[in-house]
Amino acid sequence: MCVIINKILYFTQLQRTKVQKGQGKKMGKKIYISAGHGVNGDPGAVGINGTRIEANDTLKLSLATEQELKNRGYTTRMARTVSNLTGNVDRAGDANNWGADAFIEIHRNGSNDPTAHGWEVYTRINPSKASDELAKAINKCTIEAGVQRVRDGGLKRYDFGRLLSVKMAAVLTEHGFVNNVKDNELFDQKTSEYARAIGRALDDIYGVQEPTLPPSPPPPPLPPEQFQPYTVRITVDALNIRKGPGTDYVVVGVIRDRGVYTIVEESSGEGATAWGRLKSGVGWIGLDFVSKL
Ligand SMILES: [Zn+2]
Repeated sequence: MCVIINKILYFTQLQRTKVQKGQGKKMGKKIYISAGHGVNGDPGAVGINGTRIEANDTLKLSLATEQELKNRGYTTRMARTVSNLTGNVDRAGDANNWGADAFIEIHRNGSNDPTAHGWEVYTRINPSKASDELAKAINKCTIEAGVQRVRDGGLKRYDFGRLLSVKMAAVLTEHGFVNNVKDNELFDQKTSEYARAIGRALDDIYGVQEPTLPPSPPPPPLPPEQFQPYTVRITVDALNIRKGPGTDYVVVGVIRDRGVYTIVEESSGEGATAWGRLKSGVGWIGLDFVSKL
């Protein structure tokens, strides 16, 4: 699944990256990334007007994938990081000697038919369980990233030489056709998303351990609403001050000056819509006989 981190979506991207790094079974997993072609002048498929070179595209996506996997905590090794290698290049042997856990060879497709288009990923004809799982995961995640067409369900099998020679889980991708305008547009727009799809697929395969989050503490109780004292002007000639909020409390004084007073607490009570406690501490007055300032 490519949505492994739904449960922690409220983390920021940065926090998610931190949490994922080095977590789970993938620690130390070694991923061999092989950019298709680009050896001894082999351009791979050549697209529209000879301007679209498969070997360049495979290198571009391979470099993006390398960065993506490093960011996710994988150890990577690149078959090539330059546009062309010369000599006797043995990628399968290199991956075997390095002890890769997975071998991903990135390609783009080609056809004389400019309408040919779409995405697919290969395993050998009799794939190991690990290869099959890897292909399925990359297929799912890449389709989620967006492709123009999924060819034959995306998952295909063919005994490409290198897929037979490597000893680890191995897949070969075909990221669209270099002779198809829309596939090229998608490839250019989504290079980093396709790289991310490979990273997500590997995380899925190797079971990135979701962090065990402590149960969320209950939200702190809201502080009691702070009463804001306010001032009032007395609007009657004589206003009783009572010991408590209500006419059922004894009169402890009378205000006769129509003056300004500060109310520091309110309460309901007998004899008035509301009662206010005077800042002076003398007592309470009915608030029907004041105007708020
Ligand atoms: Zn190719």
